[in-house]
Amino acid sequence: MPYRIGIGYDIHRLVKGRPLYLGGVEIPFEKGLLGHSDGDVILHALSDAVLGAAGLPDIGDFFPDTDMRYKNIASTEIFKEALSAIQTAGFRVVSADIVVIAEEPKLKSYKVRIVENIKSLIGYSCHVNLKGKTNERFDATGEKEAIACYAVALLEEIEEL
Ligand code: MG
Repeated sequence: MPYRIGIGYDIHRLVKGRPLYLGGVEIPFEKGLLGHSDGDVILHALSDAVLGAAGLPDIGDFFPDTDMRYKNIASTEIFKEALSAIQTAGFRVVSADIVVIAEEPKLKSYKVRIVENIKSLIGYSCHVNLKGKTNERFDATGEKEAIACYAVALLEEIEEL
């Protein structure tokens, strides 16, 4: 079968004194995401989606948060590593759909830049879509304490030439 689908999910706590990175783009905001890396929930969820589709271990296995080498690592590096792993496994990403759950900041004015940055990492032939949702003030995301993300990725087997 030439196609595989994968899903990824992530959530990180919002704290003061950290820059906010979403999809590899720095977003001006008073808080940022806490994490061993830069806490970029989009790139973490998307990395797990592509790795899962290829039947590979998740990013927790590739980048354990107990390993000090990965302290404050840019999630762009994590995502590039995931893309390289799926390529080695014989796949490429053809489509990705992403849902970010954040009460604030509003992502509307950053969506194009985030999608463009993700495409610059995967390849411009990949279809990438991003949706921003609020959680209607429920739970940690709704109470502005965290940002969460779901991502789905479709992979295609790389044809041997
Ligand atoms: Mg994470």
